[in-house]
Amino acid sequence: MEKRAVYPGSFDPITNGHVDIIERSTKIFDTLIIGVLDNPKKQPLFSTNERVSMIKKIFAGNPKVEVASFHGLLIEFAEKKQAEILIKGLRAISDFEYEFQMALMNRKLNPDIETFFLMPNLHYSFLSSGLVKEIFNLGGCIKGLVPELVEIKLRGKFSECPEN
Ligand code: ADP
Repeated sequence: MEKRAVYPGSFDPITNGHVDIIERSTKIFDTLIIGVLDNPKKQPLFSTNERVSMIKKIFAGNPKVEVASFHGLLIEFAEKKQAEILIKGLRAISDFEYEFQMALMNRKLNPDIETFFLMPNLHYSFLSSGLVKEIFNLGGCIKGLVPELVEIKLRGKFSECPEN
């Protein structure tokens, strides 16, 4: 039976930590649906369409990867996509408490959907989208931390700002 997994997140923007988790997941599962969270309460740097389109371009060569945006309950998105696995990346102990709570809540909402936790390469275990944006905005080097396309798009975004 085809194993379909969903990897949800904001991906604002996608980093090499996310890419690491995606590559590990596609070695295990047949189809990985990257769910880009469309959260109207958050003010992302990249719009939902921009985030979806960047991820599509980065994984254009991987037929196991699908990309879609979603809002509302993750479990409903997974059900709609006929996925029975949720993928979560675990960086440090600090991620654990929240993710543990979410995994148990999602299990309560649908006991047939299982959460899998994957750890990235140690190099990426300190990395977050927020940190990448901050470092980049302050003029720091982010080479090796994000895919090349993201670096180009970040340059475009920050040059739009009047203070730069
Ligand atoms: P962030 O916390 O960086 O804003 P997201 O909301 O996009 O990231 O995270 C989506 C998923 O990816 C979560 O499961 C998160 O724990 C995981 N993740 C984010 N950054 C990394 C990383 N550097 N290594 C492994 N997993 C990560």
